[in-house]
Amino acid sequence: MRLSANSPCPCGREAKLKQCCGRVHQGRPATPPELVRARYTAFVLGKVRFIIDTTHPEASHAREDRGAWRNELQDYCRRTEFHGLQIHEHEVDEERGEAFVRFTVELSIDGRPAGFTERSRFRREGKRWLYLEGELHEPGADA
Ligand SMILES: [Zn+2]
Repeated sequence: MRLSANSPCPCGREAKLKQCCGRVHQGRPATPPELVRARYTAFVLGKVRFIIDTTHPEASHAREDRGAWRNELQDYCRRTEFHGLQIHEHEVDEERGEAFVRFTVELSIDGRPAGFTERSRFRREGKRWLYLEGELHEPGADA
């Protein structure tokens, strides 16, 4: 999906793409909740390189073969329609360089509803937060 920089940001914040997740895509440091938004928007826009670059190298789903990983993500983005993101809460431990964000994504894959709630774990490397892993919650468990 292509969007103009002046479009409303897909993450749901009342801001233009260029003033919201677009900045993070261009390298502005992000807090963990901002990173969840920017990664969601990257999925919407098919910016798979950003998704890979913000995944911690030690993540269990990180792949050595970045080309294959990119193709897999591109395929996922093509088959998925994103309907919205809601961030529920976050905890940031600056000292340990660890953070958690709990959020819900509404989406459908191949036309079937496949939304989920996840508690993501992030680890800081230098100044950047990176996605490490996610723990899935039952859909609607916290509705
Ligand atoms: Zn945004």
